[in-house]
Amino acid sequence: MELQLEDTIILIDTSRSMFRKDFDPNRISAAKKAIKDFVISKNQIDDRDQFAIVTFSSEAKVLLEMTSYIDDVLDAIDGIEIGGTSGLGEGLAVALQLIVKEIQQLGEKGYRMLIISDGKAWGSTIDPLRMSKIAQGLKVKIDCVGLSELGLSYRDSVLERISSQTGGEYRKIYDSRSLSDALTELSSKKEISPSARKADSAAVGALLETIAEDLLRPADLSEDQSHLVDLLIGKEKSKCIICFQDICPICHGPFYSCGRYCPNCKSPMHLHCAAEWASASKAVSGDNVFRCTRCYFLLKVPASYSKIKTLKGTHHYSATELQEDDTALFVKVNDFSDELAAAVDPICHSIFDNEENVYQCTNCGTFYHAECLDKWLEDRASGGACRVCGKKITL
Ligand SMILES: [Zn+2]
Ligand SMILES: [Zn+2]
Ligand SMILES: [Zn+2]
Ligand SMILES: [Zn+2]
Ligand SMILES: [Zn+2]
Repeated sequence: MELQLEDTIILIDTSRSMFRKDFDPNRISAAKKAIKDFVISKNQIDDRDQFAIVTFSSEAKVLLEMTSYIDDVLDAIDGIEIGGTSGLGEGLAVALQLIVKEIQQLGEKGYRMLIISDGKAWGSTIDPLRMSKIAQGLKVKIDCVGLSELGLSYRDSVLERISSQTGGEYRKIYDSRSLSDALTELSSKKEISPSARKADSAAVGALLETIAEDLLRPADLSEDQSHLVDLLIGKEKSKCIICFQDICPICHGPFYSCGRYCPNCKSPMHLHCAAEWASASKAVSGDNVFRCTRCYFLLKVPASYSKIKTLKGTHHYSATELQEDDTALFVKVNDFSDELAAAVDPICHSIFDNEENVYQCTNCGTFYHAECLDKWLEDRASGGACRVCGKKITL
């Protein structure tokens, strides 16, 4: 019988708690050795199978792209380093992005994941269970090995829930020896249906949009997470990694108005800069999906923001530059949506308290206070154009 090709993404927790010495000589060294046993045993079963390695702590990183070249895999395992707190959600998200990249190129193959962690997922800004649901949809089985998850009930162990959700196996491990045994055992082939039949580009585009994460609003960060942002980014906390400025070049607001964070590396960026980057880079299908310029994580901006692509280079418009048909209808807003609650007026850079006297550009979705819009239209410098998308305003 011919064996089905089966690629494995190994996710390894590199948070500081992995230094604990309850395993001989410590958790991380024991894990590295056991992963090597897993890889070697799997390679003996079928040397065509590939491996990729993702590490997760304060941010998730692809340590090794898919390869069947066993020496590279073993070298990469040796190179695993510890640091930060664990973000299981981010790790899973990065692993899924790897798989989708592979599906785009190949199709017809089984994918599985192996997670080794001590299960403390509190650093995650991305919900690991939401990620595992997506994995389940892609028919990716996830085996989880929980180190020293002492006294955890089913409800407490995120790892156990991920395994059961995706049809993988869960093992609780307390010492180095049984860790190696368990991983060698898990190396045998699984019954996995191929993740996706040769997906057409539209389907892959939709899939990319599903797995791409929203940017985080500063207000969405928990206390731990904003502490993490301080730690990782420090003084550069409000300097956009796309335009390298604090003030947004598109809406002219200070960082707090349209500033967001990458959910993986926590880098700051203006939502407007991100939208322009997404539509200009075309690195991935879909106008509103793009890769973080720092960590390459797949991100998305709200679809309405992709309309700012009409901006090219300069953000100043004069009335004569605008064509007759280059207009955007402004409509009166009549309900206090979540979108409005989170918006900032590009003229005064203040928020909106309620839906009264608010206008919205139907081209780019930007909200304006009625008074601010009046002032703006009287200002000759405005050229009568939306400050964000540059279309001529019609009321
Ligand atoms: Zn920017
Ligand atoms: Zn902006
Ligand atoms: Zn990033
Ligand atoms: Zn205003
Ligand atoms: Zn507009």
